Amino acid sequence: MTDPAPRYIYILSDKRSGSTVLENLLAQMDGVFSSGELRLLQGHYLKKGAGEDWNWNCTCGVNIQDCEIWSRVASSLVDKPTLIPHPPVQQLLKRSKQPAWLDSLPEIHPTRNQIAQNCLEILQDVAPNASHWIDSSKDPVQAYFMAKAAKNARILIVDRSLRAIAYSKYKHKKRKGESASMPKLLIEVYRNALLRKAVKKELELLGVEVRLLRYEDFIQSPAQFVSQILEKQLSPSELDRLKYFDMSLQHSIAGTPSRFDKKELKLDESWRVYYSKKTFFNALGAWLERRV
Ligand SMILES: [Zn+2]
Repeated sequence: MTDPAPRYIYILSDKRSGSTVLENLLAQMDGVFSSGELRLLQGHYLKKGAGEDWNWNCTCGVNIQDCEIWSRVASSLVDKPTLIPHPPVQQLLKRSKQPAWLDSLPEIHPTRNQIAQNCLEILQDVAPNASHWIDSSKDPVQAYFMAKAAKNARILIVDRSLRAIAYSKYKHKKRKGESASMPKLLIEVYRNALLRKAVKKELELLGVEVRLLRYEDFIQSPAQFVSQILEKQLSPSELDRLKYFDMSLQHSIAGTPSRFDKKELKLDESWRVYYSKKTFFNALGAWLERRV
């Protein structure tokens, strides 16, 4: 009897909503291989698109060609796209009122199904013996096509307050010296949440297993969530690893800019202090949250 194929787990979320922490908790468990944001792998190889802040290096600190994991597939990445392109969020939201809207997106070459297949082939090449593959690509459209291609996919949607996500994006932009408008960010995270909801519906029509995970819950009791998601009992040494965010042993693509530091896991509630002084933004955020 052959071993069953690794379980494919996709993390779907907005940026700055705790998905990298979730990915890291899962990735630290025995037998699990996490690619990080797999859709950005080809871009990291070509040094194009997101990733300039860390010179498109793998979390192990070297470039894709020199990494002990990704070098196995590096030469094939030139003509193996991993990113599934799609129209902007607002256009997608308009389309989402139509039946089968994701399968009727404007055609591209190679097709979205082929790109999803590329991603799975890469996982198969670099980690054929893993029990689980974790892909934290986050993107909703990519989630749909990956779930269709993978057959045994499980989609984890990170559910976090829109106000918390917008505030985290705001802080991030300020740190980078970029201009940031809180109302614009709140609308952006709201639209992203609507899109995740519309894609979730389509995934469920496909019969794909979709789980919503509250950020606050998995940060506060990670063992319970990790054990449920991976469907196994955790060993004492695995439980010990769940106390920290630590990417030092991983070969992960992208993630948060602070991903290279090992730190203790803790709930970030700083957004509550911010909004307690900004009553208009707080009211706007709360109103948008009720509409998702
Ligand atoms: Zn590496």
